[in-house]
Amino acid sequence: MKSWTSRPVPVLPGSMPAIRLFDTAEGREVGLPATGEQSMYVCGITPYDATHMGHAASYVAFDLLNRAWRDAGHKVAYVQNVTDVDDPLLERATATGVDWRELAASQIELFQTDMTALNVIAPDHYVGAVESVELIVPAIERLVRQGLAYRVAGAGGEPDGDVYYDVEAAGKQSVDADAWTLGSISHLGEAEMLELFAERGGDPGRAGKRQALDPLLWRVARDGEPSWPGGELGQGRPGWHIECTVIAQRYLPVPFTVQGGGSDLIFPHHEMGAGHAYSLTGVPLARHYAHAGMVGLDGEKMSKSKGNLVLVSRLRADGEEPAAIRLAILAHHYRADWSWTQEGFAEAKDRLAAWRQALAVTPAGSAAGVIGGMRTALAADLDAPAALAAVDGWAATALSTAGECSPQDQALVSDAVEALLGVVL
Ligand code: ZN
Repeated sequence: MKSWTSRPVPVLPGSMPAIRLFDTAEGREVGLPATGEQSMYVCGITPYDATHMGHAASYVAFDLLNRAWRDAGHKVAYVQNVTDVDDPLLERATATGVDWRELAASQIELFQTDMTALNVIAPDHYVGAVESVELIVPAIERLVRQGLAYRVAGAGGEPDGDVYYDVEAAGKQSVDADAWTLGSISHLGEAEMLELFAERGGDPGRAGKRQALDPLLWRVARDGEPSWPGGELGQGRPGWHIECTVIAQRYLPVPFTVQGGGSDLIFPHHEMGAGHAYSLTGVPLARHYAHAGMVGLDGEKMSKSKGNLVLVSRLRADGEEPAAIRLAILAHHYRADWSWTQEGFAEAKDRLAAWRQALAVTPAGSAAGVIGGMRTALAADLDAPAALAAVDGWAATALSTAGECSPQDQALVSDAVEALLGVVL
């Protein structure tokens, strides 16, 4: 599938210090590799309700990592999927009387327009589930042959043949230090896993499963649902976790450097994907797992059912500037849960205006300090609020001095704010 087109990233003199990132699986900040090509997979949207502020914050968070790596002199391989067939998409299409393919296409287009507006660097490969079915089928067939996946008999109106991953068998494959067992990524207890599994698309009560937490790999065809040829599996469509696993393994090194997503993807999605990857290759999916916090509205959880989704496209339609939206997001550390508020957005607009005023009176010799400040902040687990504070400090000095503008420093500061924070002044 076609990715979006992004602005070229300005190249700055000097480079970012060694980057540290909080790894969810390790439960601590880790140093990322200092040399070589870096690789990142960020889980994409299911194309309905795009692009709410939670999506935007998550993609902006990992865009900061992409930019930090580039500033540190790394080449970055970046892949994102789009779950362009899945139960919630089909349910929304049915509920609104729209063909599911049209709904997906229109929401993918909207998402890409929003990402372009927010100046999020485009992935090298933007890959759909539908176009990947033929890659996914052999992987599931292999898991069945390995005895790590099994077919469930039909019961209670469900047909024969849905294929599930056997988490218990998979957890016993190996005892080496990198081997996956249930909980390797999330470190959750069973009760919490069961609750989240049911909440986030799992089916713990499905009759015939060996374990309640076994996730779906292949859903055989049902009347009225789209399906594709599945080889030995029969006609059907893939589960969500195996989709990301296979796409990541196809387009990135094994293991790749960082898998990213919202914190609601830690379990079961990233947990199960890590298991699938280890079962298929004997190697972990990613070296590190990183997660962005959740975004609410005025202190409440944001959801379609509450009718309180803040959509980037709606703000843009209201004439709001994407750079201000991006700054409102960056005012919060990516790992924090936070709420979108009118006050927060107003502060971001004021900040953007102040930075632009300051840029017009950039003091000679002031660029190096603010660039260094942003780099130090971002290298420390992508601390965007500290990076904004560094620019605020520079701006306050520039505005209070209000002397002659240095064109050279002005260009450097403008380039640095764009290259490191993705904000175009
Ligand atoms: Zn994913």
